[in-house]
Amino acid sequence: MKKVYLETYGCQMNEYDSELIKAILEKNNYTMVGGQDDADVVLLNTCAIRENAHQKIFHRLDQLKARKKRGQIKVVGILGCMAQNLRQELAERSPIVDIVAGPDSYKRLPYLIRSVMEKGEKGFDFSLSEYETYSDIAPRRLPGVNAWIAIMRGCDNFCTFCVVPYTRGRERSRPVDSIIAEAHQIVAEGFKQITLLGQNVNSYRYEGQDFADLMEKMAKIPGLRRVRFTSPHPKDFPVRLLHLIAEHDNLCNHIHLPLQAGSDRVLERMNRTYTQKEFLDLVETIRTIIPDVSITTDIIAGFCGETEADFQETMAVMREVEFDSAFIFKYSERKNTIAWRKFEDDVPDEVKTERVMRLNELQREISKKRNRAEIGRIREVLIEAPSKKNPQEWLARTDQNKGVVFSAPQHRPGDFVKVKIVDAGTHTLFGELIEEPRRLPIVTEVNV
Ligand code: SF4
Repeated sequence: MKKVYLETYGCQMNEYDSELIKAILEKNNYTMVGGQDDADVVLLNTCAIRENAHQKIFHRLDQLKARKKRGQIKVVGILGCMAQNLRQELAERSPIVDIVAGPDSYKRLPYLIRSVMEKGEKGFDFSLSEYETYSDIAPRRLPGVNAWIAIMRGCDNFCTFCVVPYTRGRERSRPVDSIIAEAHQIVAEGFKQITLLGQNVNSYRYEGQDFADLMEKMAKIPGLRRVRFTSPHPKDFPVRLLHLIAEHDNLCNHIHLPLQAGSDRVLERMNRTYTQKEFLDLVETIRTIIPDVSITTDIIAGFCGETEADFQETMAVMREVEFDSAFIFKYSERKNTIAWRKFEDDVPDEVKTERVMRLNELQREISKKRNRAEIGRIREVLIEAPSKKNPQEWLARTDQNKGVVFSAPQHRPGDFVKVKIVDAGTHTLFGELIEEPRRLPIVTEVNV
């Protein structure tokens, strides 16, 4: 029985894919191990979204070189988005690589590993499928509080900066029934929360059913306390979904809505297909229908041709919307994208860095203000894990996906408890447990 060590880089979709890969390999008599020292096979499930994600993997391959040369590791494989994006170039740049396989090739991994081990043949598979959704594979999840389900794969939006349509292929949705059956199974296994994943969840379509239909079915699953999803595209957000979130307690009041840029000129260059006004109108609609919602976002600073005036528009949108939090990145040109082919990456690196710093500074102020508005409120939170700073305390999340740290030694991850928010910083809320009054047993008088 060969032993495999799998490392995962990048987004939640990659974490989910790693659970699929583990299930595929275990079904084919491979044993998953927790470290490279025990492994015959080392696989890296990679990300291609930014340049530093690539650099990380090349650095990791340098670290593995000596063990591979000494024969302690028999097979090294690169999987995922970077594999799909760089293909043979990866093996040319790093000769220790035996397998390069993209996100639609995971079912072929047992065969590719055997080919290296038995015949010494390197294996490359970059075929992208129009149909593969892995809906027939039950992911190998570790026990926990949250479980992911990928409801679709690929993306047809072709935002000009994004490599995903080239690394993950065309958009395809999983059958509704297979998602709902998996969700029932997850609840039976004791998970309290499910996060539905897709590159653009609002494009979900299966035999006439859309994302709102799917969420309505998720809301009705007995015992499923929380449903989250990521990410929706602002261009086609279904208003019916907002009403469903408002009506159902277990559909969480948090929407991650990637803005990317505030200026119409840059949005058009990015092929985001919405304007600043449409984005602001959508935010207003969201807050009208779900008043107690949190909205988070992604922003790219320094996209091709972004002027100071364009950048100021992004700052203005941030001030107007007041996102609860934001992931802010420097634009990093990705090979094979439309921007790589058509536009010049002409914003100097120091200007990008400076814009990121200004955006971060503004967002810190806004996040702190919004978090401090929570002080005094009572929130039901789901305990996730010990707090990193103080393991004697818990990190839990509100419905709005805000992290709350508090002490409650009698409770465990997976428990829902009520806390009063007593303090707040930029990233974290601090709470005090509200003890539920103990219910006294009902005593029935019995006449003897
Ligand atoms: S919607 Fe745009 S940014 Fe998101 S995965 Fe698709 S192409 Fe990339």
